[in-house]
Amino acid sequence: MVDYRFAFRAGELERAAHLRINDAPRLDPRARAIVFWRGKLLADSSGTPVRIALNHQALSDSREEPVFVGLTSDGPIFAADLSLWSPAEDATMIGQFIDQSRQTHPGFADAMFVEIRGVMPTLTRLDGECVATGRALIGWHAAHRFCANCGTASVVESGGWVRKCPQCGTQHFPRTDPVVIMAITRGDMLLLGRGPSWPERMYSLLAGFVEPGETIEAAVRRETLEESAISVGAVRYVASQPWPFPMSLMFGCHGEAMSDAITIDPVELADVRWVSRAEVLGMLDRAHPQIGPPRPGAIAGALIEAWARGRLLDPGYWTT
Ligand SMILES: [Zn+2]
Repeated sequence: MVDYRFAFRAGELERAAHLRINDAPRLDPRARAIVFWRGKLLADSSGTPVRIALNHQALSDSREEPVFVGLTSDGPIFAADLSLWSPAEDATMIGQFIDQSRQTHPGFADAMFVEIRGVMPTLTRLDGECVATGRALIGWHAAHRFCANCGTASVVESGGWVRKCPQCGTQHFPRTDPVVIMAITRGDMLLLGRGPSWPERMYSLLAGFVEPGETIEAAVRRETLEESAISVGAVRYVASQPWPFPMSLMFGCHGEAMSDAITIDPVELADVRWVSRAEVLGMLDRAHPQIGPPRPGAIAGALIEAWARGRLLDPGYWTT
């Protein structure tokens, strides 16, 4: 049985916001950086993030200073982006649904850049929190180099937690995009769907971005109605997961369906279907004839497994 505890939950990271305007973390001899490149993580052969010193020569491939992620019992942790580097290896898989390619930087003998979704189930809680925070911050910087108010190139402040415009003075802060992901049930049936470009046999819960001016509950009802034409009544929040691809926060919810008949939105989804609890248990055991198991590490799989075991709405199940 796959372990469906999800990645990126709160670990032992101390965010230490009061130190972001301070040079002390950067000057600490124990300070280390985890390293990103085009959204991928520098990891060793076991998938563990590699931590490098802040004077490592490879950081000359960074456009900006490493950002301060927080404090750990081993010292301050930063995140660096080697965005100026180009690999010798093939990079055409990057950004595809499943990227199993590896890229090797000449500055790191025993490490390679790997797709984070491939290693996230095995990250420790601390590493997971550092990786989620670092990747989201790095991704935000890469996409927000210019002031949204006047278009001038902005500068990094506060250890990477602010970009300030030198022209108009506007401060810009890292953003997180809220997404709802929902276990929609009707009696002993669970609603699953699959995207048009997903690997064969992969199904998951319906999900979608929360829109401006919308509550989480309303977003669950609207997205479900748009994608499947199912009406949803009561909605309850269950658990959340940072999802740094590039910078979302997934709100895991349960919704009670008020109707059965499915009409698929063909732009968003290739299939939507009701699946029985027995079928879901078979799917988790890799024994379902048409549906494979959920991707380990994502909250979707955790919600699906919890529902199958009758624990979805048990608060004690989600506290560890
Ligand atoms: Zn400006």
